[in-house]
Amino acid sequence: MIKALLSATALLSIIPTCQLSAQDYRAQALRILRTVPLIDGHNDIPGAIRDRGGLDSVDLAVSQPKLMTDIARLRSGRVGGQFWAAYVPVTTMDSGPHPAVYALEQIDLIRRLCAKDSRSMVMAYTAADLQRNFTAGKVSCLIGIEGGHAIENSLGALRMFYDLGTRYITLTHWRSLDWAVASTDTAHRGLSDFGKHVVLEMNRLGMLVDLSHVNDQTMSDALHTSRAPVIFSHSSARALTNHARDVPDSILKLVAVNRGVVMVNFNPGFVSEAVRVYGDSVTARLDALRAAGVDSATRADSLKAWNARAPHATLQQVADHIEHIRQVAGVDCVGLGSDFDGIDEVPVGLEDVSKFPDLIAELLRRGWSELDVKKVAGLNTLRVLRAAERIAVQMRRTQR
Ligand SMILES: [Zn+2]
Repeated sequence: MIKALLSATALLSIIPTCQLSAQDYRAQALRILRTVPLIDGHNDIPGAIRDRGGLDSVDLAVSQPKLMTDIARLRSGRVGGQFWAAYVPVTTMDSGPHPAVYALEQIDLIRRLCAKDSRSMVMAYTAADLQRNFTAGKVSCLIGIEGGHAIENSLGALRMFYDLGTRYITLTHWRSLDWAVASTDTAHRGLSDFGKHVVLEMNRLGMLVDLSHVNDQTMSDALHTSRAPVIFSHSSARALTNHARDVPDSILKLVAVNRGVVMVNFNPGFVSEAVRVYGDSVTARLDALRAAGVDSATRADSLKAWNARAPHATLQQVADHIEHIRQVAGVDCVGLGSDFDGIDEVPVGLEDVSKFPDLIAELLRRGWSELDVKKVAGLNTLRVLRAAERIAVQMRRTQR
């Protein structure tokens, strides 16, 4: 009997993994995500809620089919920790509420969003909070400010944003500041001396430095300045998709030395070269129509027709970016940063926050070990948070 059992076990162990079904990999992914919190680096639902009239207009406790995020789908997506973006438009630098006020309002919105569904969500300020909330079966809410213009060149404001719970700041958005340069800018400069002060003050506070949206020189300067691991909260690999928002291999090699984490963005134009090229061609054709004086209704019809023929990105391409970053920077330096509800299009297979387990299943199908997929899902981000907290304690001992 024992012999028969042994031979059955031996037989099972030699069944090639390719015979496992998609459902088997999904079941394995779900089992893994019961043991480690999946942490997403960037979700823009706070901005989407603001655009729709605020928390009185949008209730995530009920299904939100027009959005990519609600409580039920966060649950089925096994999200354990979510950095909610306090996105501050660059236009606030010109008119309307001051950038700092806009950021305060979005932080307020995130905290109220989290308190509103306290049975499902709870704020987290440290890696230990995140781990504890996960054990309690709740989604951790973390705050990341998107746009360094929010501090209005004030280290005092930066410190107060930390006290309000902000755990990362994306140094720029689409427009350069006098102390940091955006990815779309052709200027050959990076961080100014003040920019380096900002990075070091973030280190001293224990706030993560987010390099998504900055140009390559600013990435490099920040990586050479920061004493703590940095993050890219929502960027993919430029070797696969030639977009300025993605991270080139030369920088990935610096991230490996810094022990930071690049959290892969799902934006189709950042993960599929065909989508990016097609998008650029559509923009050029629209510009040409505008220059020729074609009216806006005709332009809108043309855009609709072109969009209908557009190529699509896929979940597999997102997995390709994860594998590329693993290959260049190492498996300890890659994570997830969906950008859900901040992107207009989604990859096939990654339509909303409920789909994260399918991406984990794809990595398992490709032969990834359970430990390595746990790192991508959340362990790498937890390690970076812990390192930032530890370095802050050390720096505060000597600098006040
Ligand atoms: Zn962004």
